[in-house]
Amino acid sequence: MRFQLLTACLLTVLTWHAAAESFSFTVLGKNGTPIVGVKAAGNDAALAQAQRDFAAMVRAATKIEDYRGGRGWFSLTLAIVGEDNTGEAEAAMAAHQLNRDILGDEGFLLHGQSNRKFILCAYSGRGVLNGVYKILEKTLGVVPPRPQAGLDYPERVTSSASITAPCWEKPAFDLRGLSLSSSLGWPRPAMDNWMSRNLMNFPGSSPQTFAGLYPSFSQYGFRQIMGGHTFHFWVPFKEFGETHPEYWPLIHGERTKQWYQGGQLALGNPEVIDLVVQRMLAYVDKYPTIEALSFGYNDNGKDGFGWGEDPLCLALDSPNDLPKPGSKRPRTWSTRYIKASNQIIARINQKYPKMKMHVYAYHWEMMQPPDCEVNPNLIVEFAPLYKCCVHAINDPNCPRNDLLAEWLTKWTEKTPNVYMRDYYFASPYVPLVTLDSLQKDLQFFRERKMLGIRPEIIPDAPDGQNLQGRDFAVWLRPSNYYERAWDASGLRYFALVRLAWNPDEPIEEIVNLFCRSYYGAKAGSLMAQYHLACDRNMMLSGHPGEPAKLQGDAERTDFINFGMYCSCWNWAVNIRGHSHRLFLTENRKHVGAAAMPLLEPLYQARQVAYQELNLLVLDRIEKDLDLMRQYLLFHGYQLKDESKTPEFLVQPSSGAVD
Ligand SMILES: [Zn+2]
Ligand SMILES: [Zn+2]
Repeated sequence: MRFQLLTACLLTVLTWHAAAESFSFTVLGKNGTPIVGVKAAGNDAALAQAQRDFAAMVRAATKIEDYRGGRGWFSLTLAIVGEDNTGEAEAAMAAHQLNRDILGDEGFLLHGQSNRKFILCAYSGRGVLNGVYKILEKTLGVVPPRPQAGLDYPERVTSSASITAPCWEKPAFDLRGLSLSSSLGWPRPAMDNWMSRNLMNFPGSSPQTFAGLYPSFSQYGFRQIMGGHTFHFWVPFKEFGETHPEYWPLIHGERTKQWYQGGQLALGNPEVIDLVVQRMLAYVDKYPTIEALSFGYNDNGKDGFGWGEDPLCLALDSPNDLPKPGSKRPRTWSTRYIKASNQIIARINQKYPKMKMHVYAYHWEMMQPPDCEVNPNLIVEFAPLYKCCVHAINDPNCPRNDLLAEWLTKWTEKTPNVYMRDYYFASPYVPLVTLDSLQKDLQFFRERKMLGIRPEIIPDAPDGQNLQGRDFAVWLRPSNYYERAWDASGLRYFALVRLAWNPDEPIEEIVNLFCRSYYGAKAGSLMAQYHLACDRNMMLSGHPGEPAKLQGDAERTDFINFGMYCSCWNWAVNIRGHSHRLFLTENRKHVGAAAMPLLEPLYQARQVAYQELNLLVLDRIEKDLDLMRQYLLFHGYQLKDESKTPEFLVQPSSGAVD
């Protein structure tokens, strides 16, 4: 039996080799000039973008301005399986026994048809884009580090590594996105390009923004999945508030008029369900390319989350929605909400069988899973508003995250269609999340077989506010707020998008790739030391592996705990707290010495930029140094401006402060 199996394996290997030899592929010739002619086999918008951007990325890296990807020693065909007329993409997949089940929509294959002829294929335009960017990363060794930097690399790439075809990869998660707040809902090219070039596919939209956004999605192969607080959109108070007050919940014996924040909809009323279904169907009729509608409830936090006690609504609840005796946890209304959502999507699916619908598991009362089935066409956005960002979600020593991990686990036992929203910004000067906790989170999400991630951050410059000729709005921020936020957190966001593709990519490699692409090779290796040292201190500030301590003399409960070493975005995140984490001391007299191991590689990198007369790199390093100056000033230390090594002009012990 064993012998027969072995023979079968050998035969498979032999057949495979006969069908597909391996060939070496690269992008630059010996003299550093591009040697690839790239063509798109088909008319898909993302395929055209892949062809255009292949040339643009090579131009940017090599700074050879006239490269257009026309003809070359190597020919590279970009193709979507089944859409290339020649059947070559399908043949390439077959030669390696690959198919859609194995690669998914967004995996890709680079296949050598001869030693000079290659085909890059996938089952979607987004898959081909992923392949183009991965191949360029592996050969040229740089990727766009942050939106503001665009394709502005600090130095010329003069040689390229070889890769061996066949070569295939696929993402760990189906949904890889960012939710961009404090900006307006229309296309923002700097962010979109950066996300696409870093293999993301899910910028998000809502019924209010979809019409303005989706025309820009097709070239990037972005997913048309909506989110957001949408109850007030589907059932407008302006339209029905006077004629049908019973569409809104009964709160303290009265029909609420809080239609935007503070009140939800009376989901037990069949007329409300009818109306939502009717409005949603009309919306899909108008925009038939939508993949998922949104039925996200309104934002809230008081009056029982605004769900109300209408008898028709109460009838949807389960006795298990109430807290167990002795528990500090609130009751939940998620059963009522998901039962209503199940009804709606089932009716939408009668006309549009593949349509999906986004629902929330957002806020303390609603993160608890429902006591009912979850329709497989519902996409659950798990949104733990107050998660600790120092510790991983499944860190048993984090007193804040343990109940979130428990609830998330229970949701994922009910449905695989869950993605994570997290909250990674707080202050433009302070990074919140550690690289270590990011990696552990993503590994946990993969273990739970989740759909992916879409944390809330703010966009980078230059189009952070996204005004595009429109007037400034009161809730937008001044321009440099956006830039500052990414100065402080850009590396973390970069790591996040890398880990969404592969949660096992070593953190050190991610940091090296970012630093090489952002600061250049020589200064970059010093800046990598700097960033890794900072992140290590932030990680250590969480006292990894130690049993949790709570703030004050609080007793640990089964609900909200405040861990002494925890932090999250709404805890008045500030420079004091961050600098304690960064320097690992509360004693200002010790801060100067504690800062030195961080400052030394930073200053060395700055000297490299001076020696190379590279102003772009110098300016980028100076942004990091500016943040450091702020953290140190808080403790009474001022750095000397002109010195080549870190020295203090003023420090607490000098008597100039206090
Ligand atoms: Zn924590
Ligand atoms: Zn202090």
